[in-house]
Amino acid sequence: MKYKKIQTEQQWLNEGIAKYGAWIPNWRFKCPCCGRINTADEFDKVGLDVEDASQFCIGNFKKKTGCNYATMRTISRHNEGCRLIRFDDGRCLAVFDFAD
Ligand SMILES: [Zn+2]
Repeated sequence: MKYKKIQTEQQWLNEGIAKYGAWIPNWRFKCPCCGRINTADEFDKVGLDVEDASQFCIGNFKKKTGCNYATMRTISRHNEGCRLIRFDDGRCLAVFDFAD
């Protein structure tokens, strides 16, 4: 499986902060399946964790918006548009690419 980028958690956080600032609800992620730009703020508004915006398309939670793609749930060709984040404890997590 090919990821767009492989980063440590700190590298990923640093890049997000450089793009959007430290306030996570301002962060934006591009769904690799439908191409929709999902904002962390949208997830906050429907009562979800802002971090979920990096792993789920909003369509999982809102009807007729985006799609139901999720990185954690599927091994899929669409993960090619994702990044792989490596945590210090060895865990890995596929996340959507930043929106821009
Ligand atoms: Zn989508």
